Amino acid sequence: MQQVEVVPVPLERLASLLPPERVERMDHYAALAREGLSGRTVWNLNSTAHGGGVAEMLHTLVAYALGAGVDVRWLVVGGDPDFFAVTKRIHNWLHGVPGDHGALDEAARAAYDDTLARQRDEVLDLVQPGDVVLLHDPQTVGLAGPLRARGALVVWRCHVGLDARNEWTRGAWDFLRGLVAPAHACVFSREEFAPEWLDRSRLRIIPPSLDPFSPKNADLDDHLVEDLVHRDGLVVEGGPLATVGRAVLQVSRWDRLKDMAGVLEAIGGHVDDLPPDVHLVLAGPETTGVADDPEAAEVLDECRSLWRSMPEAARARTHLLSVPMADPDENARIINALQRWATVVVQKSLAEGFGLTVTEPMWKGRPVVASAVGGIRNQVEHGVSGLLLDDPTDGAGLVDAVASLLNDPARCESMGRAAHERVRDQYLADRHLIQYVELFAQLVD
Ligand code: UDP
Repeated sequence: MQQVEVVPVPLERLASLLPPERVERMDHYAALAREGLSGRTVWNLNSTAHGGGVAEMLHTLVAYALGAGVDVRWLVVGGDPDFFAVTKRIHNWLHGVPGDHGALDEAARAAYDDTLARQRDEVLDLVQPGDVVLLHDPQTVGLAGPLRARGALVVWRCHVGLDARNEWTRGAWDFLRGLVAPAHACVFSREEFAPEWLDRSRLRIIPPSLDPFSPKNADLDDHLVEDLVHRDGLVVEGGPLATVGRAVLQVSRWDRLKDMAGVLEAIGGHVDDLPPDVHLVLAGPETTGVADDPEAAEVLDECRSLWRSMPEAARARTHLLSVPMADPDENARIINALQRWATVVVQKSLAEGFGLTVTEPMWKGRPVVASAVGGIRNQVEHGVSGLLLDDPTDGAGLVDAVASLLNDPARCESMGRAAHERVRDQYLADRHLIQYVELFAQLVD
């Protein structure tokens, strides 16, 4: 287990972007938090310090909470490949798909329990009775029971989910139900994600947020954008990005549910329907970087094979990028630059807990075309702050929507402006932190 050091950030930084009444409200809640949580530590436990939306958000929220004077800490649980194979399977099943076709049986239970059992004592030594513990995602929920027995106030924050139910989601919930039971409260991004058996008095809905000042989202001048996008070593398939006129971009982890292959097939198969200067760019992390994602390398390989099997005309206008993870800030700056450089951003997810990869380009004023799934439906108001695709498997629909924007720069501009405002109104850290303070106040009471 590893403790992640986060540098505190004063709330004033966020305040500079907010209207006065929001600043006042944020300061009021910061004072409530200092008072209500005095003498207690708030612990966050997840399974990776970098890569993916949860780590991205924890860096921000922990920094602001520390800046507000609350004692917040962040622990990352480790795991062997067996553990992460099981947690990835749970993740896939919660999204309604079979994934690797393995089972959530007794062997899976043993692999899951053994890994957490090895780290339990270390956690219980650190956490004191009365502390608040936020357990993120299925990877850590197995610690809810021991932590509650220790006298901690336990919140399970589940970042994933599917609006509908099927045999896979039910299988995942069967596996998790007993582990979730001891939690005092459970937080989801959408109400539809919560299992029907969860007592509604324990349920809270708290959507994610982004940090406008993080390396991922901070303003970049145009020269820096160009330098970052065109740096050596990013492109793993396709020619150099110097040949790109306008870019259609999807940024994602290499996860089948993000359907990078589907984007490649749809746009690669219809390049002639797009203006000739338009190229597709698919960017994801270097596959050695995300320890808790065992399928990533396989998914990237599938995309590379698909790219190689495409006709020359499609290959000339499609590029796969593997963004280095060794320096997380550098990784974030490259993603930031790509999102600013792109003319249209797509997110063709088959399922999505929230989708920071939609929020981020929206904040940067980019028009987004995204599947109407999960948290994306909350973020994008169709036709105003982006375009939603009702059927995430409809490749032709994706190409039509993208082409309609590329052919209408004025619409791109107004949609991008509306997208930016939408994020300012709904998805900044002040709203997010306030909702946590409200929850903690109820637990501590
Ligand atoms: N991301 C990144 N580098 C990459 C690909 C993705 O930093 O090469 C980030 C992306 O910018 C976003 C997060 O990972 O902040 C993904 O969060 P999202 O909520 O979209 O999906 P998740 O990965 O949590 O399923």
